[in-house]
Amino acid sequence: MTINDLLTDIRSFLDTVVFPLEKELGQSSFRELVPRLAKVREEVKRRGMWAPHLPRELGGLAMPLTEFAHVSALLGESPIGHYLFNCQAPDIGNCELLHGHGSTEQKNTWLVPLAAGEIRSCFAMTEPEFAGSNPVNMATSAKRDGNDYVINGHKWFASSADGASFAIVMAVTNPEAAPHKRASQIIVPMNTPGVTLVRNISTMGHEGSDWMSHAELRFTNVRVPIANRLGEEGAGFALAQERLGPGRIHHCMRWIGICERAFRLMCERAVARELSPGEPLAKQQGIQFWVAESRAEIDAARLLVLDTAQQIETLGAHQARDRISLIKFHVAGVLGRVLDRAIQVHGALGLTDETPLAAWYAHERGARIYDGPDEVHKSSVAKRILKSYSAKRTAP
Ligand SMILES: Cc1cc2nc3c(=O)[nH]c(=O)nc-3n(C[C@H](O)[C@H](O)[C@H](O)COP(=O)(O)OP(=O)(O)OC[C@H]3O[C@@H](n4cnc5c(N)ncnc54)[C@H](O)[C@@H]3O)c2cc1C
Repeated sequence: MTINDLLTDIRSFLDTVVFPLEKELGQSSFRELVPRLAKVREEVKRRGMWAPHLPRELGGLAMPLTEFAHVSALLGESPIGHYLFNCQAPDIGNCELLHGHGSTEQKNTWLVPLAAGEIRSCFAMTEPEFAGSNPVNMATSAKRDGNDYVINGHKWFASSADGASFAIVMAVTNPEAAPHKRASQIIVPMNTPGVTLVRNISTMGHEGSDWMSHAELRFTNVRVPIANRLGEEGAGFALAQERLGPGRIHHCMRWIGICERAFRLMCERAVARELSPGEPLAKQQGIQFWVAESRAEIDAARLLVLDTAQQIETLGAHQARDRISLIKFHVAGVLGRVLDRAIQVHGALGLTDETPLAAWYAHERGARIYDGPDEVHKSSVAKRILKSYSAKRTAP
């Protein structure tokens, strides 16, 4: 199947199966919907569209990042698009980690069922007591005891921990090491004694459930084999950085998908809503400006992200790090503006759950915070740019 064939099939699947399902999301909890969604996931598999980013031996379509980016944008048009195709965060990042750095046993135990959509996972790095913007500061520790690590710590905003089978936990394994070599990533089955899901944190008024939630977790004398560590001891931050490169393409393209849907809804509403007979909103110049500005911003953002995906593929995530930071804050900004305009054009309707706009507006405010707040990315890019100018500067 060519990428264009796949995109056509996904578009038709979204229109006929996925968008009609969304209404129920507003009326019931995510957990209540899981059995229905499981049937749709089976249908996605049956139609040969499952997990396009995964290698074929794991049941995927082995799509390169530059092609998967287009799929991700399309799936982003629905809040459940990525989940239905098993390429949702945080599982997609955990799959990549396990695939790149897992031992054979870790892959068999965790990656194979994750890729098949039989289990889910979460990633537990951020701690409420420490600024997540500087993740080298953390208190969670993993101390060696015989063949085990004993983990103690407190995490929060572990997305999708509710119902997850395992967490990849970032914990300090050597407090004496250099800051970026102190921590390791360790696989912790969620049913290990000492793991407590304290609560699903209410965010923007919603506790959520199952995959659509963010949890507070406690680890109290949690004992797991040393063989559960991913990669070398002390490689936790290096692996986290590696996870974030393609991860930002996934997020940014998903946001572009949201923008496309919001844009379509905005235009449809602008031509349908009449201020008086024969006078649709679309005739107002202010609305026309929003339409034009949104179109330009979405198209430019898409090209920037696709070009960054190309750079990651050809040069690697480290060489592409400036671009990865640029897309992270730039596209998050475009997302906020486009959603805001689309809601404004809908008037009161935009605040209801009759469209996905309000839920996105609430939940995607986090886009400017997770995976590194805007300000961190802006500072790090600007510092590198300015450093090159300082180096070139000759004394007056
Ligand atoms: C929806 C959502 C999902 C998440 N999912 C996960 C997950 O699955 N796993 C996980 O481990 N974590 C997750 N997180 C946590 C996320 O990684 C952190 O929120 C993020 O790293 C920021 O850390 P913080 O919240 O502690 O903010 P802080 O570090 O306290 O920063 C607060 C604010 O300070 C400002 N700031 C910070 N640094 C600078 C700087 N250098 N210059 C200027 N201003 C600065 C920024 O405006 C920032 O928003 C999630 C967060 C959200 C919102």
